[in-house]
Amino acid sequence: MKAEIISIGTELTTGQNLDTNSQWLSLRLAEIGIPVVWHTTIADDLADNIAAFRIACGRAQLVIATGGLGPTLDDLTREVVAKVAGVELEFDPASLEHIQQLFARRKRDMPERNRVQAYFPSGADILPNPNGTAPGFALRIPVQGSSSTVIAMPGVPSEMFSMYGEQVKPRLLKLGFSGGVQIQRKINTFGTGESHIEEKLFDLTRRGHVPEVGITASDATISLRIFARAPTLADALAQIAPVEATIRERLGKLVFGVDDEELQTAVIRLLHEKRKTLSTAESITGGLVAHRLAQVPGASDWFRGGIVAYVNRVKLKQLGVSIDVLGEHSAVSAPVAEAMAAGCRARLKTDLAVSTTGVAGPGGVTPDRPVGLVYVGLAWRGGVASFSFHWSGTRIEIQSRTAKQALNLVRLKLLEMA
Ligand code: AMP
Ligand code: MG
Repeated sequence: MKAEIISIGTELTTGQNLDTNSQWLSLRLAEIGIPVVWHTTIADDLADNIAAFRIACGRAQLVIATGGLGPTLDDLTREVVAKVAGVELEFDPASLEHIQQLFARRKRDMPERNRVQAYFPSGADILPNPNGTAPGFALRIPVQGSSSTVIAMPGVPSEMFSMYGEQVKPRLLKLGFSGGVQIQRKINTFGTGESHIEEKLFDLTRRGHVPEVGITASDATISLRIFARAPTLADALAQIAPVEATIRERLGKLVFGVDDEELQTAVIRLLHEKRKTLSTAESITGGLVAHRLAQVPGASDWFRGGIVAYVNRVKLKQLGVSIDVLGEHSAVSAPVAEAMAAGCRARLKTDLAVSTTGVAGPGGVTPDRPVGLVYVGLAWRGGVASFSFHWSGTRIEIQSRTAKQALNLVRLKLLEMA
């Protein structure tokens, strides 16, 4: 049993819009044990669509398509599937009534063109769409001694999501397409490179390991993904648990969270656990660290606020960095990073403060201050420290990396604290 997803729309093939439906659907199908092995994206063209659906029906027992169900001339999916199945389009009065009612509720006249949305390939089961004018449909198409089930849904993500959950998923389970469950657990790490992680886990990441363990990197966060396939959810969870325990044991403090958790999630959780408050003094990151902290629900109990001290005058006036330290070491230096953190902690009256200063480029460069030179400062009761980094990359990448380092250093400090 193999499935294919077809995404239809010229806005997708031209790169104007990203095809997020395929990603979402693949994840949902995996959850019910349906392996997706092809993603096809096609422009709104009749011949190309017919060719793509013929190929899909020839190789996949399940074909799920999104898009092309609107009322306009470039919405071709109904016609395409009818042609591939060798059937006519048939009018469905109930669907037309639904579309008319939708327009009446919006106090608008229904354009004549919308009638086409009430036509379906003969023999198709109609999937009503309470959230829009485009109903979906499902049709079994015989192909050389076997068959392929084609399911067409609207392209608008919100409409597709509810149609999948309410009508398509139950149908797939009933039709026996589901082959147990497949679940994924992501373990997120920060602070070392991909190859170093792989070295520590080579026995788990090798091909053929059950469950499968993969490594992905995104903006210096390295994640281990554990995929488990099993007849039941309990079996799949039981496969994952010991592997997750081994990864945590070998990677220790490098692990900061699971699944969608970010460094800021871990920081807020630790602040809460240790009952500590935090403030930020940001130069190079321009408020990015504060912004990320504020994204976490419940942040306000522990994250008190921050000062964006971009220019020296603000570092002097708002953070109390002394003119002598600034003059002697320049703004991008360990002593200034430490003075910023200490000043911020004192002024905002928090247990911990973190600071950032550096050269994001392209301007402001001198021989001893190259682009990507960054200092992160930390201040706590009874101490200060600073850490230097040197990154390559664009301005935005350097800022994002610095914000992550700052959050990670706060996390590591909190782990040490009573
Ligand atoms: P359609 O059903 O083809 O009229 O699509 C309606 C709208 O849904 C498009 O204009 C896109 O904004 C969105 N859309 C269609 N297909 C996708 C897709 N594969 N991923 C994300 N958005 C989509
Ligand atoms: Mg379209």
